[in-house]
Amino acid sequence: MSTQQFTNQNNASAGNSSAVRVGVLGFGGLGQAAARVLAPKHEMLWVAAADQKGYACNPEGLNPDACIKVYQSQGSLGYLEPAGRLSSNSIADLIENASVEGYFLALPNLPNTFMASVARQFIQSGWRGVLVDAMKRTSAVEQMLELQDELQEAGITYMTGCGATPGLLTAAAALAAQSYAEIHRVKITFGVGIANWEAYRATIREDIAHMPGYNVERAMAMTDAQVQALLDETGGLLTLENMEHADDIMLELAGICSRDQVTVGGVVDTRNPKKPLSTNVQITGRTFEGKISTHTFTLGDETSMAANVCGPAFGYLKAGVMLHRRGIYGLFTAAEVMPQFVR
Ligand code: NAD
Repeated sequence: MSTQQFTNQNNASAGNSSAVRVGVLGFGGLGQAAARVLAPKHEMLWVAAADQKGYACNPEGLNPDACIKVYQSQGSLGYLEPAGRLSSNSIADLIENASVEGYFLALPNLPNTFMASVARQFIQSGWRGVLVDAMKRTSAVEQMLELQDELQEAGITYMTGCGATPGLLTAAAALAAQSYAEIHRVKITFGVGIANWEAYRATIREDIAHMPGYNVERAMAMTDAQVQALLDETGGLLTLENMEHADDIMLELAGICSRDQVTVGGVVDTRNPKKPLSTNVQITGRTFEGKISTHTFTLGDETSMAANVCGPAFGYLKAGVMLHRRGIYGLFTAAEVMPQFVR
């Protein structure tokens, strides 16, 4: 597949038949950011989105500002005029009604089996195309691995773990590993700053699930008031260590190191958009000459979580479309395939 096929003649994606038609499932913090990330792109056109109560689709393209306004004021894209529909089965309805080559799944993985159930829904629907998730837990990616053959048979190219961590930082580790003959350690430390937790409810609940004494079920069952009370106790900070993060299984599957050599932790500040620390990944190994060294890849402090998740997600979606158009289906991780830059 040449990059030519992604190049548009005119600069607007709307009405441009060569732009890849994409959809976003989930229209919370990341889903809305995804719509904004796509707006200036000409190689992709955002035509479909779903939230828990409804969906919207328009083959000519959706307007991010209008969609975000309706979602924030009325609670669902289903109220969007004229492209919205309310539905209690929004994902299934969107799959049936929209013509989309690839979806970014910006959905909560609550319970921990939810994303795998969505993947099964796509398989059963007969839809063919590219799916990208930004899932975080090792056990969630393991469920996807079990679906590998079914995805392949269904003609779906599924890119898993394609956010920031896992995602961008895992891919950076895979790249950095090339300097070494042997990898000793991959250490991911993230700093996230968001102005208020309500903008990213699922992300924060899923992070709470990693705290001592909590698990996914408990975090999922917490009311917003209970989350707020917990954050009041911690001064708005979540400090996380030794998280169950799929960077480990992804690097193991890519043959780079064993999963127990990978550690992930970080600090989330839910009351300040400034990062509490600089997100980085350190890759320590031994070169062929016997030198022990560490590469460090640090994200710019000005880059937000949304930028570092949605950018890679669409970069992997573009890579997935390339694979899909060549007839390559099945499951891939962010450590296995290079993301492609979406223009
Ligand atoms: P959010 O809570 O802000 O929004 C979730 C959205 O999903 C809402 O629009 C909701 O209506 C919709 N939704 C829920 N159930 C649905 C259903 N059954 N059908 C259709 N829509 C449904 O979520 P968020 O904070 O944007 O997080 C999304 C996901 O991204 C989380 O799973 C989070 O862990 C993940 N994430 C990954 C990374 C990474 O680096 N890999 C970073 C941040 C977040």
